Amino acid sequence: MNVYDSARMAEVLAPLGFVATDVVDDADMILLNTCHIREKAAEKLFSDLGRLRVLKTRKADSGDNLILGVAGCVAQAEGAEIMRRAPFVDLVLGPQTYHRLPEMVARLARGEGPVLDTEFPTEPKFDFLPETEAPQGVSAFLSVQEGCDKFCTFCVVPYTRGAEFSRPAASIIAEAKRLVAGGTRELTLLGQNVNAYHGDGTDGMNWNLARLLRALAAVPGIERLRYTTSHPRDMDDDLIEAHGDLPELMPFLHLPVQSGSDSILEAMNRGHTADDYRRIIDRLRSVRPDIAFSSDFIVGFPGETDADFAATLDLIRDVGLAQAYTFKYSPRSGTPAATMAKHVADDVASDRLQTLQALMTESQDSFNRSCVGKVLPVLFERSGRYAGQLVGRSPYAQGVHATASARCQGTVMPVRITGVSSNSLSGEVETMEVGA
Ligand code: SAH
Ligand code: SF4
Repeated sequence: MNVYDSARMAEVLAPLGFVATDVVDDADMILLNTCHIREKAAEKLFSDLGRLRVLKTRKADSGDNLILGVAGCVAQAEGAEIMRRAPFVDLVLGPQTYHRLPEMVARLARGEGPVLDTEFPTEPKFDFLPETEAPQGVSAFLSVQEGCDKFCTFCVVPYTRGAEFSRPAASIIAEAKRLVAGGTRELTLLGQNVNAYHGDGTDGMNWNLARLLRALAAVPGIERLRYTTSHPRDMDDDLIEAHGDLPELMPFLHLPVQSGSDSILEAMNRGHTADDYRRIIDRLRSVRPDIAFSSDFIVGFPGETDADFAATLDLIRDVGLAQAYTFKYSPRSGTPAATMAKHVADDVASDRLQTLQALMTESQDSFNRSCVGKVLPVLFERSGRYAGQLVGRSPYAQGVHATASARCQGTVMPVRITGVSSNSLSGEVETMEVGA
């Protein structure tokens, strides 16, 4: 979602004459878009700011102004602290106020800085963002839902992104059409809790995610749909059914479970058991047998015993995941878990993380190897490192390299998978075309 937000920020600033640059020294403005989910992500900010301060001073010495801003969830949660520790920062803005960037820049120009804007405005930012057709690539993100009301006990999202909000379907469909006009063929719908989507439909009814996916699948030019991140509790019947009968919906679902232990799931306030999760996976496999899954796990949550951790490993073995993101529990101030008793010792948590990662590497390798010999439809996104080579994605979001003509960029081609490396596949384009 930060990638999506950064692209929107660039669009909001374009009418003021700002264009993106990869050369830090050339920049007139640097906005750090930050993540607060774990301590490590937040810590990076202050070391980055230290480095940028030097650049700002150097520019000032030669008469140039560099606007330095901090956006995103660290800004939301620690705005005042940033202003105090880094008084050379000009702008501090939360994830819900970046549509006001032009106004903030104008205030700076009038000498009214520094500006701190971390409100939760009553009018959602989407109503104020420009409707550009700037190409976002063959595969693009589209934010449909934001915020979260679930309050898992470890998580800062409900505090930094705010209450759950679903965009109206009409504005999502309009954005999808603009993306298609710019060459996009694959859309990944975004939301912190994307399958809790419940927006106004174009027919005056309230739409769930399944209904929205059906409407987007009907937009000419959209060949592939994905959505992330989902919560097991919101995998409703309609959505499971959509996986069975919408060919545009890719057979790959990221469905975080966090733990395989029921007592830990309860302490996390996840609202489901490990068996509930197994049943959802079974139901999805019964409607779409070729579906694969990825998940998120936290080890070392307060009170996690060896038996709890063993239950997590059991769940992974039962379900057979294609991929997973694994994290050591990171206490976040203001969340209920941060003050829970029985914190797990760091070395124990590190050992568990290693064990989990070793199991996941094995599971991921075996999934990737199982693709060798198969013909997978690959959506080619860009040219590869070598001449005559294109890089695309399989339905399972694996990167695939193949020799193919530049004309194939933006199209789905059948590729026979011949090799596998640690994080990508290679293959050969088959002559017969298959569907997406
Ligand atoms: N909405 C999604 C997850 C959003 S956060 C869901 O409900 O699953 C992305 C991932 O970061 C989470 O799935 C979790 O595994 C991890 N995470 C969140 N807070 C964390 C914390 N305090 N410590 C460690 N990992 C955390
Ligand atoms: Fe955080 Fe996801 Fe739980 Fe919401 S559902 S509180 S975003 S982990």
